[in-house]
Amino acid sequence: MENKRPTPLSELGEFALIDTLTQSVKLKQATSLKGVGDDCAVIDTGEDCLVMTTDMLAEGIHFDLIYTPLKHLGYKAVVVNLSDVYAMNASPTQITVSIAVSSKFSVEALEELYSGIYLACEKYGVDLVGGDTVSSLTGLVISITAIGRAKKEDIRYRNAAKENDLICVSGDLGAAYLGLQLLEREKALYEENKEIQPDLASYDYVLGRQLKPEARNEIIRLLKEKDIKINAMIDISDGLSSEILHICKQSEVGCKIYLEKIPIDTTTIMISEEFKLEPTIAALHGGEDYELLFTVPLSEYDKVKDLREISIIGNITSKDEKTFMINQTGQLIPLAAQGWDGVKND
Ligand code: ADP
Ligand code: MG
Repeated sequence: MENKRPTPLSELGEFALIDTLTQSVKLKQATSLKGVGDDCAVIDTGEDCLVMTTDMLAEGIHFDLIYTPLKHLGYKAVVVNLSDVYAMNASPTQITVSIAVSSKFSVEALEELYSGIYLACEKYGVDLVGGDTVSSLTGLVISITAIGRAKKEDIRYRNAAKENDLICVSGDLGAAYLGLQLLEREKALYEENKEIQPDLASYDYVLGRQLKPEARNEIIRLLKEKDIKINAMIDISDGLSSEILHICKQSEVGCKIYLEKIPIDTTTIMISEEFKLEPTIAALHGGEDYELLFTVPLSEYDKVKDLREISIIGNITSKDEKTFMINQTGQLIPLAAQGWDGVKND
């Protein structure tokens, strides 16, 4: 022990680090139905279940105030938490907001941040019920906890995908990542020449996806309305590849993802070309899309196939068949996560 060199965080990456830190956790309360490992923890209240999730955003890591309006930041900080609540098939009800702020922020600046927080509370019908306020030496850190409710039988976990399930995703992917590339490019140009005012009018869609994402409550509503049976569900915060691997690992299954079926908006494709990026790479590994990824039994095919907002992108296979992507020429490519490296970026 004495001579052992300390392990650098970079040796593990986010997920291995969480595993290392939480492997000895033993749930002792009978009411703790789910602990670490899903989008939310699940707590039995007797009548129904409470779900609970927390996400932290740090200045310089998760956001850059040069191009992030504080109101948008407040809105996004709430939305990323609510997305995790919807990913459990639950309804968010309350949030708490904790901030660490340095003296560079004025009261007005923080009021601006809170105007975005309140806007998100209003839109999604959740109450702000508490938090904490502390000083920081540099920069801003926002930590939000959201809770929600669901009937026990309605809750959907990452670990319940079954062989032959269809893999479905809502909306489109990759746009938030391109939005970020664009903002970073304009920032670099601005730093070179402060006279330049960026013309970003034709990039509205991808910028909106990065700066003001929405949580997909209407997808949850749609699935319920159409009586579609969901087996496993997760939200896409780190990138499609990373999230599908979470589902496969936890459900002990394999998958086949068809690259040509991954939904990508035409604006995203256009901007990818500008950046000489393959759009499917942005969609697979980009992250921050806050769409829902879920699996449904094959029997649900007729109900999902014509839904405009839902794309069927592949199917669940047996564990032995491993995790693969299939490209346009029918080639099988092993699916590996290249999402954000959490310790640096998530
Ligand atoms: P998501 O992307 O859905 O927000 P994360 O990848 O951040 O989920 O976290 C994965 C799981 O690990 C979650 O169940 C989360 O609660 C848990 N987790 C993350 N960090 C910690 C930590 N430091 N201590 C305990 N649990 C953690
Ligand atoms: Mg999540």
